[in-house]
Amino acid sequence: MVFVFTFGKFFSDEIFKPIRRIIRNVKGINAHNLHQRLVVDKTNDDVEDLSKTFNDMLDRLEITFEMQNNFVSNASHEFKTPLTVISGEAELGLSLAGLPAAAKDSFLNIYKEAERLEHLTGSMLSLAQTGFDGKKEQWSEVRIDELILSVKEAADKIIPDNKVGINFDNLPEDECKLTVNGNVMLLKAAFTNIVLNSCKYSDNKPVRINILADNQYVIVEIVDEGIGIPDREIGQIFVPFFRASNTEKYKGYGIGLPLANNIIRMHQGKTDVRSRVGEGTRFITYLPYKYI
Ligand code: ADP
Repeated sequence: MVFVFTFGKFFSDEIFKPIRRIIRNVKGINAHNLHQRLVVDKTNDDVEDLSKTFNDMLDRLEITFEMQNNFVSNASHEFKTPLTVISGEAELGLSLAGLPAAAKDSFLNIYKEAERLEHLTGSMLSLAQTGFDGKKEQWSEVRIDELILSVKEAADKIIPDNKVGINFDNLPEDECKLTVNGNVMLLKAAFTNIVLNSCKYSDNKPVRINILADNQYVIVEIVDEGIGIPDREIGQIFVPFFRASNTEKYKGYGIGLPLANNIIRMHQGKTDVRSRVGEGTRFITYLPYKYI
């Protein structure tokens, strides 16, 4: 019995070895490395067939993914020029002397809406770009404390009376624990989106940013006292164009957070959200620091 069991186990382990390897490889393939393929061993059996089938499926997925991204990028590019012209013309109209009040209001509305659309197409373009490879050549060492200071400066420009405060009390002493490898522009866009949301959805109440580190990640917590997110909708806030049911009063498109989440994931990080309706929301982002 012992012999049969040991022998059987040995053989089943050997037989399933290639299958386990395929499972491991397939698990490692995601939206950011869709170009990877499984190694096909020339064994002339079902395992070779299975690897080839997976590779064919990945080819088709990659093509579809690329087509979708190209479509969004091209559409966003095409929208940009006419929108710039519209807002330019509206600005020109606004500067005309002796304009009746109603015409002035119209020009102002055209200008504001064109600006909003420009911002939207810009975000869609970034979303399409980050969804694929994130331009690794633009990566460098990024100090997260400095990055958060620049996010605060950006927020000051957009909402001059914001109440965003940065808490440096828990900053790790070892500055290596504050340095990540990443694309500074994208990381800034991600954190700016989260911070501006906190200001927007709390009607400009105080927003606290904590920076800390554990043994793997530099952690940035962004805490607001705003409207919160309904429990059953929290799982959807990273889905493009999703907006929670309590946001009618606030303008938005549902693009900022999916973009931020894509950027954090591209840096091998993760985002956690805790929220209570009427009390506030806490976004916790984890980015692996460079030297571990
Ligand atoms: P939007 O343009 O609608 O703000 P986002 O992609 O930035 O789009 O956010 C998606 C949704 O997540 C928002 O519509 C809102 O429902 C919810 N949300 C994001 N941040 C907050 C926050 N700080 N407080 C409450 N709800 C939030």
